[in-house]
Amino acid sequence: MEQEILKNLELLKNRIDNACKACGRDPKEVKVLLATKTVTSQKIKIALQAGLTLIAENKVQELKSKYDDLQSISHSNHFIGYLQTNKIKDILKYDVSCIHSLDRFELADKLHKRLLFENKTMDVLIQVNTSAEQSKYGIHPKGVIELVQQVAEFETLKIKGLMTIGLFSAETELVEKCFQLLQQLQKDIQGLNIPNVEMNELSMGMSNDLEIAIAHGATIIRVGTAIFGQRIYPDSYYWNE
Ligand SMILES: *Cc1c(COP(=O)(O)O)cnc(C)c1O
Repeated sequence: MEQEILKNLELLKNRIDNACKACGRDPKEVKVLLATKTVTSQKIKIALQAGLTLIAENKVQELKSKYDDLQSISHSNHFIGYLQTNKIKDILKYDVSCIHSLDRFELADKLHKRLLFENKTMDVLIQVNTSAEQSKYGIHPKGVIELVQQVAEFETLKIKGLMTIGLFSAETELVEKCFQLLQQLQKDIQGLNIPNVEMNELSMGMSNDLEIAIAHGATIIRVGTAIFGQRIYPDSYYWNE
């Protein structure tokens, strides 16, 4: 199991290097976030020991169940799943440092109130639905700027950039459109110079489409399968509540 994961990490590193070379980027600009849904803490530890540092869960329940096991090894927890407002307290309790799935005002408002109460701040990315598929979360591209402006008013929330899940399609051009759209939104928002808003991070690209995402400016790729192997549950289980 360990050899398998280490080999996969090596292959992933080569893919990132090649993708960066193809578009003239420095591989250091691309961070790997371990998408660890259904993956045991034992396997996660192997990747952390190999030098990776970022973990992301989709469900608070899994964050909770692996939390103690992973305390012995340094890492950061990100959250990439649909976040219900009644789970906000848990997210804070289990040391999540960045939420990639901020997609609505109500969630931002409740997060802000809780963060104020706990005297904390939180890095956030705005999740955008770039593929127009109903099964995925994320705000419609037309609403992004307004949401960014609203969230910017909450001093506890630090907007670092945007996140999206690309269309699942074998047609490269259709996937590419999603990532192009996110990159364009990033530029549009950067041009507005909104106080309390940084737009340096683009969280996009997964096991199947990370090369395309890197070509369009991804700074965080979220990788599960390519490191840990196939999952037994379909992703729809994680993407629909
Ligand atoms: C599962 C998941 C990933 C990783 O997907 P793989 O195809 O296994 O690399 C990335 N982002 C989100 C939001 C996910 O739920």
